[in-house]
Amino acid sequence: MPGLVRSVSSPILMDKSKETEHHEAKHQTSLKILHSKMDHSSFQYERSRDVVCGICMDKVYDKQIAEERIFGILPNCSHAYCVGCIKRWRKTRDFQNEVIKGCPQCRVKSSYFIPNKYWIGDSEEKLQLIKILKQRLVRSAADSS
Ligand SMILES: [Zn+2]
Ligand SMILES: [Zn+2]
Repeated sequence: MPGLVRSVSSPILMDKSKETEHHEAKHQTSLKILHSKMDHSSFQYERSRDVVCGICMDKVYDKQIAEERIFGILPNCSHAYCVGCIKRWRKTRDFQNEVIKGCPQCRVKSSYFIPNKYWIGDSEEKLQLIKILKQRLVRSAADSS
C-alpha cells in the first residue's frame, strides 16, 4: 500500500527530530540535578547524614577518610554500608562466594554494589539510579569501542 507508506513516513521523520531535542533537554536537566546534589543542604544530604554502616557501625558521613564517606548501596536490599566496608566484605576469602555476594545482614544476594554519595533507601529511587548507571555503562562501552 504505497499511499499508507507515504502518509506514515513524514510523521516518523518529525518524531525523530523531536526525539533528539527531547534527549538534549533531558541531558541538561540531569546535569542540573548532579550539580544540585553537591549542595549540602539538600534533602539527600539530610537523609544520608545519620545513616550508619552495618559493618563498622560508623555514620558513613563521619568517616575519617573523605573517600570513605560514600555509601555502597546493594541493589537487592535496603541495608546501608560504607563503600570501604562492603568492598572489604566482598573481597574476603574467609567465606564462600555465595556468602560474600550476599548482604552481611540479611544475606540477600546482590551481584554488585553501587557507590553513591547519598543514601538511597527508597527502592523506586534505587531502580532509577541503577537505570541511569546502566545507561552510562552502555554509553561508555560504546565510546571505547
Ligand atoms: Zn563501614
Ligand atoms: Zn540486606
